[in-house]
Amino acid sequence: MTKYHVTHTEKAFTTHFDLPSHVFQQSIASDTFHDLDEVLASQLAKNQRPWWVSPLEINHPTCEINWENIHRFDGRESLHTIHSLAKYIGGIQAVYDSINSGHRALLSEIRHSRLTLFRQALIEGSRIKPYFAKTFLGREHAETSSAYREPITWQGTPEENLGILTAAARYFGAYTIGTMELNSLERKLLFTYPRGNNNPPAKYGKTKATTNDFTHDWPPPNDIIKPIVFEDVTRAYESANRYVIPKKKLWIVSIMMPPIRSTHENSSIWGPRYYDNSYRTHTAVQTCLQDFLRAIGYQGMGYMDDTQGLLPAAAAAILSGLAEVTRNNNYCFCPKPQNNSSYFSMITDLPLAPTGPIDSGVFRYCHTCFKCATVCPSGAISNHSEASWEPPTFEGMSNEYTVPGKKLFFNKTHLCKKHSLEQSSECNLCLATCPFCSSLLNIPRSF
Ligand code: SF4
Ligand code: SF4
Repeated sequence: MTKYHVTHTEKAFTTHFDLPSHVFQQSIASDTFHDLDEVLASQLAKNQRPWWVSPLEINHPTCEINWENIHRFDGRESLHTIHSLAKYIGGIQAVYDSINSGHRALLSEIRHSRLTLFRQALIEGSRIKPYFAKTFLGREHAETSSAYREPITWQGTPEENLGILTAAARYFGAYTIGTMELNSLERKLLFTYPRGNNNPPAKYGKTKATTNDFTHDWPPPNDIIKPIVFEDVTRAYESANRYVIPKKKLWIVSIMMPPIRSTHENSSIWGPRYYDNSYRTHTAVQTCLQDFLRAIGYQGMGYMDDTQGLLPAAAAAILSGLAEVTRNNNYCFCPKPQNNSSYFSMITDLPLAPTGPIDSGVFRYCHTCFKCATVCPSGAISNHSEASWEPPTFEGMSNEYTVPGKKLFFNKTHLCKKHSLEQSSECNLCLATCPFCSSLLNIPRSF
């Protein structure tokens, strides 16, 4: 009889995790996993990087970082809020003028578009929202089979845990994940407040207040837009006026959703549907992962609603090596499958081996490639030959939407934002022009 390496059989393993055994068989049809070693040895549990990608030291991606100068960012100051954007583009009325102009542009595009029936149907299908919402800690009171058995706390090595979480995330619909530790240094990546411009989760009833409701009466109260705080507790919790993260060793999980081609398209009608798609499918991935983690005795701290995470998703993607920084701050390059993808993040207390940042050569290439900067109609992308430690200032104004401490080609993102509002979506010419932004799913033009 064949002997396998660990005592966890497939049956015991999948029983522990409340998962059907085919979870670990989906990517390689012919595989049958007899034990944990086989799961971990399979492609489902691995992130195989192309040969031309070099691993880098933890916390040392290709853009230099000075952690001394990095501070926690108040997400309410991001350019997604009217309060913040108004400071840089000429006041609150200028923001509304841009939004109105965008509505007119969208109507005009709809009137004159010759979208095929196939595309119209995809757009309609993309609009649907899941029947459950993302929440900070997931379905904490959801009934699972753990209600009928002794609760367990899974004990695996950080490498094993990375393997099973990668396999589970892929099973639930993610393309893949990257991981990094969340120590006192990396805590600086967490927002002090989420940006708060989306509706609160349904559990707060009919309250629809957002950051934008307080543009004239700043700041919003803490029971509407809650701060993210660290406390000496063992488990994360959410109260009426804060999201609480335990002051203990934690890990950041960067979640990459499958990329599709439409993100490169300059269309107010079609382009944003890509984002709808990834945000919608991420809802299931996050909620399933939170349930998965809970079933093995751990917590997943995730997006508190559709679009608001605990830290910038691009930072997690770059520091965990899913992607590399580029000249264009709107875009981080993923070497596999060579695309601009949608990234999300989660925090967990499941110990995970860090996947580490990467050097694919793209940031070096960006130093002599100016294609995105040249094509950008708003002048948002830097055309400098060298990256800088100094975020740009605008007509003497301080730049409150950029956190220093990174040596980058800093975008003037408010210019992109204004242009995007005026035409109702990002033009994405920068992505369409980038030689590294190829397509994975080519939706045929002829449909
Ligand atoms: S989306 Fe358009 S305006 Fe914004 S940075 Fe890219 S090219 Fe420039
Ligand atoms: S277009 Fe060129 S400079 Fe811009 S992100 Fe792509 S490779 Fe870098």
